[in-house]
Amino acid sequence: MAQVIIDNISNSLGSFLEGKYYSKIVVLVDEHTKKFCYPIVKSNLPNHKLITIKSGEHNKTIATCQSIWEQMTNFELDRHSLLINLGGGVIGDMGGFCAATYKRGIDFIQIPTTLLSQVDASVGGKLGIDFLGFKNHIGVFSLPNAVLIDAFFLQTLPKNELRSGFAEIIKHCLIRDKNKWNEIKVKDLINQDLADLIKHSVEIKKAVVAEDPTEKGLRKILNFGHTLGHAIETFYLDKGKKRLLHGEAIAAGMIMESYLAFEKKMIDEKTFLDIEEFLFTVYGRVEIDQIDFENILALTQQDKKNKGKIVRAAIIDGIGSCQYDVSLSKKEMLRALQYYKGI
Ligand code: NAD
Repeated sequence: MAQVIIDNISNSLGSFLEGKYYSKIVVLVDEHTKKFCYPIVKSNLPNHKLITIKSGEHNKTIATCQSIWEQMTNFELDRHSLLINLGGGVIGDMGGFCAATYKRGIDFIQIPTTLLSQVDASVGGKLGIDFLGFKNHIGVFSLPNAVLIDAFFLQTLPKNELRSGFAEIIKHCLIRDKNKWNEIKVKDLINQDLADLIKHSVEIKKAVVAEDPTEKGLRKILNFGHTLGHAIETFYLDKGKKRLLHGEAIAAGMIMESYLAFEKKMIDEKTFLDIEEFLFTVYGRVEIDQIDFENILALTQQDKKNKGKIVRAAIIDGIGSCQYDVSLSKKEMLRALQYYKGI
C-alpha cells in the first residue's frame, strides 16, 4: 500500500523528497490547479518542469495522454524521474496512468486537491482514462510512491465540487461505519468536520484496498452506488449542461441502489427512507428523462464488475455493511430508475 500522509504539504513534500535523487521532476496540473495549488507547492520543490492540461472529465482521454507522454519525452524524462500529479481525480487517474506506462513505469506521487480525490481517487492505485465514452475503460492498477493530502487546498474548491466529494464520504459511512453515518446524517455539508472525515474515509479505503488490492472480492464494496451512478454519469458525459459531477451521479446511484436493497429486503424501510432523505436534501433530484432509461440501462452492461451479461453490484445489507456480486436484473434497475423519478 502506498504511503498516505495527511499533513501540511510543505512538511509532507519535504519529507518525501528527503534523501531521494530524481534526475527530473515534472508537475502535472490543469489550468485551475496551476492557478490555485501550484503556487503553494512550487517553493517546496527543487528544479522542475510543468505540464498543463485542460481540466475536466471530457479531457480524460487518450489524446490528452498522448500530449502528456509527448511532453515527458521532450523533457527527456528517464526512468529515474518523478511525476507529481497535482489536482483532482482526473489529473490523478490520468497522470498516474501516464507515469505507470511511460518507459514501463516511472515514480509518481499524488497530491489530491479536491475533496473527492482526497477521500477516494488518490488512494488505492486505480489509474486510467475514459474511452469510447465509457468511464475508466482503459487503465491499470499501479501504486503511487506516496499520496500527500492537505485539506488546505480545499479552500479554493468550488462548492459543487466539495459536495461531489462528500458523496464518497457518505458512501464510506454507509458501507463500513454506522456510527459515523449517524454523526454525518444530522448535519449540513457546511457543518461537517471535513478534516476528520478525510482521515476517516482514507482509513476505510486503505483497509479495504489492503485486503483486496486488485478488486477480486471485498474491494467491490467501494462501488456501492456506482453501478447505476456510473451509467448515469456516462450517459450525461456528452450532454453539455446536463453533465453531472462524479459525486452527484453517485449520490443518485446510492438512492437507487438503496431502493433495490430495500426491495430485496436487505435493509428495512426506515433505513432506506433515512438514506433517501439525506441524499435528496444534500443533492436534490437529478432530472432524468424517461426516454433515456433504456440507454442508461444499456450502459450498465459495460460495468467492470459484471460477469458475462449479468450485472453485478455492491448493495448494502444494513448501515455499515455491504455485499458484493449481487445480481441485478434489467427489470430491477428499471424499477429503481422509475422509483427515483417518482413514477
Ligand atoms: P476533477 O479532477 O475534474 O476536479 C474538479 C475540478 O476542480 C476541476 O475543474 C479542477 O481543475 C478543479 N480543482 C481541483 N482542485 C482545485 C482546487 N484546490 N481549487 C480550485 N479548483 C480545483 O474531479 P474530481 O471530482 O476530483 O475527480 C473525478 C474523477 O475521479 C473522475 O474521473 C472519477 O472517475 C475519478 N475517480 C477515481 C477513483 C479511483 O479510485 N481512481 C475513485 C473515484 C473517482
